[in-house]
Amino acid sequence: MKLIKIKGIVIKEVAYSDYDKIITVLSDEIGTITCMAKGAKRTSSAILASSQYLVYSEFILFKGSTFYHVNSASSISMFYHLKIDFDKLSLVFPLTKSIISLTDENVDTTKILKLFLNALYVLENIDKNNILVVNIFRIKFLCLLGYSPHIINCNKCGCNFKEAEEKIYYDYLNNEFMCTECSKSDKKRYIKLPFACLVAIKYIILSDTNKVFSLSLKEDYIKDFDNFGQAFLNYITHGV
Ligand SMILES: [Zn+2]
Repeated sequence: MKLIKIKGIVIKEVAYSDYDKIITVLSDEIGTITCMAKGAKRTSSAILASSQYLVYSEFILFKGSTFYHVNSASSISMFYHLKIDFDKLSLVFPLTKSIISLTDENVDTTKILKLFLNALYVLENIDKNNILVVNIFRIKFLCLLGYSPHIINCNKCGCNFKEAEEKIYYDYLNNEFMCTECSKSDKKRYIKLPFACLVAIKYIILSDTNKVFSLSLKEDYIKDFDNFGQAFLNYITHGV
């Protein structure tokens, strides 16, 4: 039986029987995997803590015929304070859902894991607008998956976006940015964004995963930034 050592965080847990659980783990090097955590629901279990939602651990696994099995685990970070804050936890649920739907097994997810851990750390410990943190995660996550939007110039006429430009328009049906002039043809399908949001998006695309959460944005722009983050994720997840 070949044992595999990984680091990862539990992003879903489902009861399998009275004592066993199936957990979904965002790992460092082998993608998002499904593991049988045998006996994890017993209070005496050595993997009781490590098999819980949002616990980051080092796992020793072996591969069975359908999924991995947890041989042993030792927790590294529990995110305890985050998990007892319902408002913050309710923001994290959709993030774990999008990780599950957009990542696969057998791919290197080291950067995505690091990004997610950083997001959780900032949400738990740093006094920063939570909606800003969530959207930094969303945008960088999609960029790491290869979906960086083109934001240097208008996708229709090619003009360069300048600060003088009052607003930038995000076409959420085509995942493209437009200038004011080009957006006039059909205003219904565009989200109007202040230039500051475009600068923020550019920063997220270009910054290293470790630095991305140092971004700050005026409170006035958070709503627009959130609208973009949601629309961008919807476009990638549902094609709308
Ligand atoms: Zn244009």
